Amino acid sequence: MVRSLLIKPMMNEQYPTVTHGDGIYLFDKTGKKYMDGCSGAVTASIGHANKEIIEAMHDQAKKVSFVYRSQFTSEPAEQLAIKLNELIGGASDYWSFFVNSGSEAIETALKIAIQHWQEQGNYRKNIILSRRISYHGITIGALSLSGHVKRRERFVPLLEDWPLVAPPYCYRCPFRQKHPDCQLFCANDLETVIERIGDNQVAAFIAEPIVGAAGGVIVPPPGYYERIREICDRFNILFIADEVMTGLGRTGEILGLDHWGVKADIIALGKGLSAGYTPIAAALASEKVMEPILNGSNSIMSGHTLSANPQSAAVAFAVVHFIEKNRLIEKVRENGAYLMQKLQALAAKNSTIGDVRGKGLMIGLEFVADKKTKQPFPPEASITKKIVDIARDKGLLVYPAQAGKEGVQGDAIIIAPPFIITKQEIDVLVDLLEETIGLIS
Ligand code: PMP
Repeated sequence: MVRSLLIKPMMNEQYPTVTHGDGIYLFDKTGKKYMDGCSGAVTASIGHANKEIIEAMHDQAKKVSFVYRSQFTSEPAEQLAIKLNELIGGASDYWSFFVNSGSEAIETALKIAIQHWQEQGNYRKNIILSRRISYHGITIGALSLSGHVKRRERFVPLLEDWPLVAPPYCYRCPFRQKHPDCQLFCANDLETVIERIGDNQVAAFIAEPIVGAAGGVIVPPPGYYERIREICDRFNILFIADEVMTGLGRTGEILGLDHWGVKADIIALGKGLSAGYTPIAAALASEKVMEPILNGSNSIMSGHTLSANPQSAAVAFAVVHFIEKNRLIEKVRENGAYLMQKLQALAAKNSTIGDVRGKGLMIGLEFVADKKTKQPFPPEASITKKIVDIARDKGLLVYPAQAGKEGVQGDAIIIAPPFIITKQEIDVLVDLLEETIGLIS
């Protein structure tokens, strides 16, 4: 038996060994078949082993796989940047900077925001505000901004302690209000925090348009992002959208923020950009953000050896092309609505599903011990882990998330299948989920 010294000591439990994938299914060494109900980590948005992507990989590998970004650009990287601008731009053009993971995209976004102000002689404007329930990545800068308690707690001494803003979490409103009577206290909290520290010290505010792993899919109420945009403009601070999970069609629009018709100044993309076929992510910065940088030092002070490598760019371009050509975002909307309705029906007859929420094919289920009081399960009950494990035994993959009161580990899962799932397959997914949840309640 071959033992991997690199992998073995880092594993805290025994995972099955995958042999191959096919569409929305994965197969392990024992021949067991799994329905990928969460696209891995909300990533494999066009499913596994797609022939067109494999062909694009081959084609590019035959030409050139690596060039260094300060020696060459490449056709695939240029094509990808143009395509992203075409899909995402509008009033403004966006510049693309390619990196290798969502966390790196966030680190790059932070640096661009801070550099934007420095190039204008403003060296004090360097605090980044984020929300108390959020996840922006595992590297130190990105983790500093993240409200994911479990992922932070070991590294608190290394993290920046920037002020945090209230989450737009209507199921457990931090202000004990109800929308629309609340008049968006959660959005207004950004204003309160900026006023407390002074807008001359704040570079940017960052938010996931729809919160993923840290909140079990939190969709802000109507009007929230319009208010956030207005506050950022009024105080002259940049708005960074972390679209790593929500971007490229996952929620039924090309970007999560599009549901609110709001544009960010800097956008981070990851996961769905390559649908998992290669490590690639991007920080996109608007013309307004780039202008002082281009007029100043003329390049951003960031970058990685493998940034914008032609191999990854070609794969991502093929993925985006596949999504467009097959009108998959329309499918996400249609099948997302179908999945939502089935999950709501399941919640209505189940005593532990407290809330079902999401958009498109990104839907969260929050589990509670008591639906009336919304009392979470005690952490030692390990409800999320039980659901994930039982579902996997039954051949269904679901993504574990954190929910519940801030700072308290609550239970949630994310259902986010590949965009190519059919209605019949959604029926099977929900049946398997119902059987799974039946075993824990
Ligand atoms: N931002 C969000 C919203 C994410 O969901 C994630 C990954 N779960 C990241 C950033 C970090 O991406 P990566 O794991 O690729 O570094």
